[in-house]
Amino acid sequence: MKRVLITGAAGFLGSHLCDRFLAEGFYVIGMDNLITGDLKNIEHLNDNGNFEFKFHDVTEYVNVDNDLDYILHFASPASPIDYLKIPIQTLKVGALGTHNLLGLAKKKQARILIASTSEVYGDPLIHPQTEEYYGNVNTIGPRGVYDEAKRFQESITMAYHRFHGLETRIVRIFNTYGPRMRLNDGRVIPAFMGQALRGENLTVFGDGSQTRSFCYVDDQVEGIYRLLMSDYSLPVNIGNPNEISILDFAEEIIKLTNSNQKIIFKELPKDDPLQRQPDISLARKLLNWQPKIDRTEGMKITFEYFKSLSEEELYKKEHKDFTKHIRK
Ligand code: UDP
Repeated sequence: MKRVLITGAAGFLGSHLCDRFLAEGFYVIGMDNLITGDLKNIEHLNDNGNFEFKFHDVTEYVNVDNDLDYILHFASPASPIDYLKIPIQTLKVGALGTHNLLGLAKKKQARILIASTSEVYGDPLIHPQTEEYYGNVNTIGPRGVYDEAKRFQESITMAYHRFHGLETRIVRIFNTYGPRMRLNDGRVIPAFMGQALRGENLTVFGDGSQTRSFCYVDDQVEGIYRLLMSDYSLPVNIGNPNEISILDFAEEIIKLTNSNQKIIFKELPKDDPLQRQPDISLARKLLNWQPKIDRTEGMKITFEYFKSLSEEELYKKEHKDFTKHIRK
């Protein structure tokens, strides 16, 4: 039985990856320190004999007993408001965490896939973004802690590949959504859906002309799985090229949720990218992959998930207490 280590296993993407690898017949070790992750996302795996959970912070030395065939490094805060609250943890998990996992991959002779991001392109000056684009990132802005950690992550991963001959894969993930996103993580989809469910106004930042391209989680996981099994070690964009402005998206959500909420405008956060759309020609060619689930369908499934959460969860202002992770 092949064995895979998935970091960030209790998070949104990590938990879906655990499901996918179990379905493919792997033995899965899920690792998380639960800063932003939630055990609820993997509680359905409690009785699965092919799954084990390890509570661990990957910024500290990582060890796993026995062999490993694959490692997927998905541990990281993923929301701009989280970066502001835990900036140093965000830098450490992308930098030190990645270094530890590359070391583990080398020791175990395992293939490693690391989760990079469209944020390596920053506020992009070319559109759509191809893998060749070097990006336009503000190193010292509020998002810099995430963007630069992920850029360093790509560099050190390529260095391990070139210098040690490690088998590495790099996925550049564009905005991905679906069930198990954290309701109050501040990102636009949970934010709008939570607001619709609570009968609040939808908060559009800036004038809403900035664009995003949203990929449903099952499509994302399929792309990641195919990339891991490929023999390509340079970065590959995985995302859905269907682009929409945030204002149009807010209107879509109002229709979808059948709510009569109004849209209110708030200040655009610093360094919020104005446009984002993946060029997925490479993934199409290399992996024979493209997204299958359109936004209407994906958003319906996601809204059903948020609807199924308890009142208590819906009204909780913040799901996570970060204070214990902040050392002053
Ligand atoms: N956004 C918004 N209202 C919200 C939350 C986010 O208008 O309540 C905007 C945000 O400014 C950005 C886009 O939605 O332009 C996507 O934000 P998100 O935090 O989901 O992810 P990002 O793609 O910026 O990392």
